[in-house]
Amino acid sequence: MVVRTIPVEDFDLVIFGATGDLARRKILPGLYRRYLAGQMPAEARIIGAARSEHSDQDFREEVRAAIYEFANGVDKDQIDAFLGQLHYVAIDAKGTGGWEQLKKLIRKDVVRAFYFSVAPSLFGDLAKRLSDYGIADTESRIVVEKPFGRDLESARALNATLAQHFEERQIYRIDHYLGKETVQNLMAVRFANILFEPLWNAQFIDHVQITVAETVGVGGRGGYYDNSGAMRDMVQNHLMQLLCLTAMEPPYHFDPDAVRDEKLKVIRALEPVAEGDIVRGQYQASGDAPGYLEDAENPDSRTESYVALKVRISNWRWQGTPFYMRTGKKMRARTSEIVITFKEPPHSIFDESGTQRANQLVIKLQPDEGMDLTVMIKEPGPGGMRLMQVPLDMSFADTFGPDGAEMPDAYERLIMDVIRGNQTLFMRGDEVEAAWAWADPIIEAWEQSKAQPEPYDAGSSGPEEALRLMHRDNRRWKEIRA
Ligand code: NAP
Repeated sequence: MVVRTIPVEDFDLVIFGATGDLARRKILPGLYRRYLAGQMPAEARIIGAARSEHSDQDFREEVRAAIYEFANGVDKDQIDAFLGQLHYVAIDAKGTGGWEQLKKLIRKDVVRAFYFSVAPSLFGDLAKRLSDYGIADTESRIVVEKPFGRDLESARALNATLAQHFEERQIYRIDHYLGKETVQNLMAVRFANILFEPLWNAQFIDHVQITVAETVGVGGRGGYYDNSGAMRDMVQNHLMQLLCLTAMEPPYHFDPDAVRDEKLKVIRALEPVAEGDIVRGQYQASGDAPGYLEDAENPDSRTESYVALKVRISNWRWQGTPFYMRTGKKMRARTSEIVITFKEPPHSIFDESGTQRANQLVIKLQPDEGMDLTVMIKEPGPGGMRLMQVPLDMSFADTFGPDGAEMPDAYERLIMDVIRGNQTLFMRGDEVEAAWAWADPIIEAWEQSKAQPEPYDAGSSGPEEALRLMHRDNRRWKEIRA
């Protein structure tokens, strides 16, 4: 199956923080892949900006190296043409140098987008200068990276600062989980098929599990992480977005505000989480792997590198169906998935006992994107009517053949959406605030308590206590497997 690519309009994209880690690993290699796919117009320009001085040529050579390292394939015949579309301006977000030069460089008659790939403390400075220098106009777009605040108060303040210079329709708060093919497919599966939606409620769904497990620890960014923890770094944003897309009502149309209105309603319907429904963990040294305290260089830290929680949604659709969420660092395998476990049939006409009979829909986001629907069938052979569970597997890489492997990654897709002016897969300001309003009391209760996080071995599936969170409800986590 051929993946269709529709070229975007001509644009000037300014990347603030163009020499940083995110730009090198994701944004610039991603743009190169879009160029190779024929989506980037030949006149479009990418303007890198950061404080350090570089000529256009130096910058291009740095980007060339980043592409070789991270782009997953290089076309030697085309890379120079792509690099020719790159420029660089030395700019200090907090100073005056470079802004006039940027103003001269940027074109007025094309889409103008500004990617803030810098520390959040600079977002306000960039927004102000873009507007003070008249570089951005009412049609320009800004892309804002995570973290968007560290609590409700800071998120509100940041929203208010950005709102002084840009309208909500110009602000693209990025959560790269929303750019994943499978996440959008979750909406397609739910709302473009008749099969699932009639069953998509508490009457037929026993529970939902959302897992984001990482094998990496916090080494290298311990200082940032130790001030944040899994609730702030993962649950309030990525896991919350997955929960919203799984639980939301059908929007009246696939339109940015219609989708985001429905997500917001889910967040507002979340019940406060009781202390007994949440488990926090911290990885400890195992074998050669150092523990969290060593990685974070803080021997007294209580910051959680793992969290598991049981969440209830107080509305008609989900009354009585819990959502269990967990995320952790230094886990056994890198995997992100949503597991919808349906209820068992009310009566079995077959004689088998002890066989798990509930259908499961597994939506896999990482490492490979795809979906599995487990169904019961008869075991093959003449041995009588014995049942077995088999997955109906839809792996995108297999289904879409060689083109599937060339699917744009989340950042590529989201940047193209910015140029197209489509905000559907970006978080709206009120959504972010509502998510903090839900997370804040959970975080505050923990910060005020004297409890210690539950230890778990680096390379394991998380703390024992998290297993008990499920066992006491007669349920089990799906195993974390590579
Ligand atoms: P980074 O590696 O520290 O890079 C920061 C960039 O900002 C550099 O290009 C730096 O270049 C520039 N910069 C610093 N101070 C500046 C100033 N006053 N004016 C203009 N430019 C300035 O950071 P990063 O990891 O790329 O992260 C960037 C943003 O993305 C952050 O908000 C981060 O939270 C977010 N994010 C990153 C990742 C990731 O995987 N890295 C993932 C998700 C979100 P100069 O020093 O030359 O100015």
